[in-house]
Amino acid sequence: MQTRQPPQRTCVACRSTSGKRELVRVVRTPAGSVEVDLTGKKPGRGAYICPQASCWQLVLKKGRLDSALRTSLSADDKLRLAEFATTLEQAVAI
Ligand SMILES: [Zn+2]
Repeated sequence: MQTRQPPQRTCVACRSTSGKRELVRVVRTPAGSVEVDLTGKKPGRGAYICPQASCWQLVLKKGRLDSALRTSLSADDKLRLAEFATTLEQAVAI
């Protein structure tokens, strides 16, 4: 009997693989902005990152999200993602 494997995704920061639901999806919308997609259903090219502030800081600092999403993140996009990373940090602290 075959067990059904959940889809695996790779974190663009640390390259570890996890189930799709355990990673946070970031999407480049058709309009060109980059957003955190907590529903996993937004249209556009997506990348996955661990729910850990360290991974988010890494992708923002190294520009890895730009290459993963084949775009150039605007200052606004980066600010929004950095703010999201802060909320992750708090969530972990609790
Ligand atoms: Zn990671």
